[in-house]
Amino acid sequence: MSDVERRVLVVEDEPTIAESVAARLRAEGFVVELAADGPAAVDAARRTPPDAVVLDVMLPGFDGLEVCRRLQAERPTPILMLTARDDENDMLVGLAVGADDYLTKPFSMRELAARVHALVRRATKTAVVAEPDLLTVGDLQINRTERRVLRSGVEAQLTPTEFDLLLHLAERPRAVLPRERLLAEVWGWADASGTRTVDSHIKGLRRKLGADLIRTVHGVGYALEAPR
Ligand code: CA
Repeated sequence: MSDVERRVLVVEDEPTIAESVAARLRAEGFVVELAADGPAAVDAARRTPPDAVVLDVMLPGFDGLEVCRRLQAERPTPILMLTARDDENDMLVGLAVGADDYLTKPFSMRELAARVHALVRRATKTAVVAEPDLLTVGDLQINRTERRVLRSGVEAQLTPTEFDLLLHLAERPRAVLPRERLLAEVWGWADASGTRTVDSHIKGLRRKLGADLIRTVHGVGYALEAPR
């Protein structure tokens, strides 16, 4: 895997932050492209689809949330959103429009690098499944290879992270999976303060697939029901 080029698109209009993020990611072995505003980011991603995007919310042109919407409408893209400290609204809207993860400013370069590695690892891991692989739980059908999900024959459009989360739950139907475990296994990092990320993505899955599919086990986590 290390001999394969991984491309990261960094979208940030503040030159000092953009440069230090780019330098750190290049030191980690990524090929980095920079974009300083919304339209440039969308153009760059169209020209060369990146393996991951580090995306600031506050941008000239149109903002990071709009960039996220446009990129996800074209192809599933792993996105790490950078939000202002304590702007919970940006974080929630970002996750709703298809960001996979977020970091609040100011962040450490070490944390940023860890998140980008986790994002790329998850996207790659699920892309290399070679044979058609269908998982059926009740009226839910998941095609691992094509990353398609149908409920009662109706296809749902999931973000890459929503898909991974659903697959994780569906591989263990009815088992109660603690939020911390989901965070560690699906997101690749064991940080108990990030469990709200899990909640937001569960909300997205329920909106797209029906509220009865995933059961909340209060104070613990979530379980996939097997409705028929
Ligand atoms: Ca900015």
